[in-house]
Amino acid sequence: MTFGHGAHEICSFPPSGRNRSAVQDMSASDVDTEIGQVGARDLLARLRCPECGGRVVPAAGEALECEGCGRAYPRVRGVPCLLPESMLRVDPERGEVEAPEDITEHATGGEYHWNAYGIESLLPTSGADREVLLVGCGDAGERARLRGMGFRVEGFDIHWSPGTDFLGDAHRIPVADESYDIAISMQVLEHLHSPWIAVGEMARVLRPGGWLIGSVAFLKPYHGSYFHITHEGVTHLLEEAGLEVDVLRGAQSLTYSLYGGLLPLGKAEWRRKAGAAIDRLLAWLRTRYWETTRHLDADEPGDRFGATIPLSFRTFDKLRFAPAVVFRARKPLRPA
Ligand SMILES: [Zn+2]
Repeated sequence: MTFGHGAHEICSFPPSGRNRSAVQDMSASDVDTEIGQVGARDLLARLRCPECGGRVVPAAGEALECEGCGRAYPRVRGVPCLLPESMLRVDPERGEVEAPEDITEHATGGEYHWNAYGIESLLPTSGADREVLLVGCGDAGERARLRGMGFRVEGFDIHWSPGTDFLGDAHRIPVADESYDIAISMQVLEHLHSPWIAVGEMARVLRPGGWLIGSVAFLKPYHGSYFHITHEGVTHLLEEAGLEVDVLRGAQSLTYSLYGGLLPLGKAEWRRKAGAAIDRLLAWLRTRYWETTRHLDADEPGDRFGATIPLSFRTFDKLRFAPAVVFRARKPLRPA
């Protein structure tokens, strides 16, 4: 597999040696580790060199070093910085890696994602010590909620915030294969130069039976983004990565997304509600028209809408006019 930009070979990471049972096979009796923050040693054990896939070990001072190719990786603001060489900014005067931007002030909050995309409804009801990777974690504001449910959480991004456990690029996630039970990627794919590579990476770091849960911009206005993706595009990306799609849904109000942000009225709740009401009216008209002309039930799921899971007209219509597409897909268990 090659990168869309240039002809780098994607890193092939060695298996981690950690053999956790698949999510669905984990019962309460398997859980013997204390629930809480994943320890720094656990994290170091699964970190891998983004250039060659080698293990990363402590070196002089706070620095880290790749056992494979010998590249040195600094800690920046206290966290391992495993950005690929092409993304490291080095201070020409001092020869040191510059600290990535602190995005705490303007990071989109994890709390916002939690609510806007209904993350909780996509998760197993209990964390049961399952390990979660937040891909492009921003301020990782959803961490507290996930921990409260019993998940162990690690997050990475290309920028630093107090919620960052390590710095890395989603196109070359610097962790070993099969390291996590769940990967969460909220509103990240549209900002990536090659989302198909990143989805492959997310699939790689999942254990068999693990879940990729996420959302991506579709009809949102441009916001520093490259690729906004339809539900068919999302389905293709996930399936190409060997994942099985089981949830596709449209999220948020189109009217509010398109016009709400343009009016200098702040984020008033009544505007969200007004936007949602206009959306509902238009959706009702489309549904009536569809039912009348097709003589089909709008709530009957079928396989006619370009997704591999059956969608009803109502679900499809929501996806057609969705500011964001929410998805969940599973990495298959290994054949017995
Ligand atoms: Zn290396």
